[in-house]
Amino acid sequence: MENNQVYVGLITDLGYSNTNIEPFEEFQRFKLHPETKKYLEGGKRVSYGARAITKGGYNSLPKMTFPGGLLLGCDAGTLNFSKIKGAHTAMKTGMIAAEAVFEALKNGSEGKDELTSYTTKFENSWLYKELFNVRNFGPAMHKFGNVYEDSSMGVVFTSLFALGVIIISQAASQVDLDAGCVLYGLIQMVTIDTTSRPQSERRSAI
Ligand SMILES: Cc1cc2nc3c(=O)[nH]c(=O)nc-3n(C[C@H](O)[C@H](O)[C@H](O)COP(=O)(O)OP(=O)(O)OC[C@H]3O[C@@H](n4cnc5c(N)ncnc54)[C@H](O)[C@@H]3O)c2cc1C
Repeated sequence: MENNQVYVGLITDLGYSNTNIEPFEEFQRFKLHPETKKYLEGGKRVSYGARAITKGGYNSLPKMTFPGGLLLGCDAGTLNFSKIKGAHTAMKTGMIAAEAVFEALKNGSEGKDELTSYTTKFENSWLYKELFNVRNFGPAMHKFGNVYEDSSMGVVFTSLFALGVIIISQAASQVDLDAGCVLYGLIQMVTIDTTSRPQSERRSAI
């Protein structure tokens, strides 16, 4: 960022599987990791804070109306957890609420009514569909857990490598790759031979 500044943040899931977890302590540990520390060492804190993310989404939406009041945005839990974005959803509930209040005032309401039209508008909006579509993201994360960094390397790398091999064999059957170069890292030496030599005559193929 400008002025040689950095932003750093950490999201701690308060799932309570570990009731002793301390978000502050976790963040301190995170800052001491060599990969983070190298950016922070010798620096000065300009500002800091802690926030809560209401991530229950569709499955946790409460009744959003009561006499004289409406629940909007993160107070209701409209954040899209799959994107960790709730600004657009909060704004949308604000727009829908404004419409419901405006209509009530136009119809002579003097307040204290329960504006159930807000719920109807919400359920007919793109926001409701958006939250419905991602309703299983949070439960899936909890059920299957996160992929650890080292295993994700194993999963992602091998999957991409396998995908690459499939694409090459499917889409470029005439391409001849030198296994020694590919496997042992001399990428600049990779031979790409697009002549239609039979498989048996190729030096090696992956
Ligand atoms: C670290 C973090 C990163 C995020 N990143 C993104 C992102 O990149 N994109 C995105 O779309 N969303 C992001 N979100 C989510 C997004 O910030 C929220 O979903 C959104 O701000 C919710 O809007 P809101 O108006 O419902 O609530 P808020 O933005 O929380 O607004 C509520 C306001 O009410 C005030 N308030 C509370 N109590 C009182 C009181 N008694 N009297 C008067 N005022 C009061 C609070 O001070 C606050 O200003 C992020 C959230 C966090 C925590």
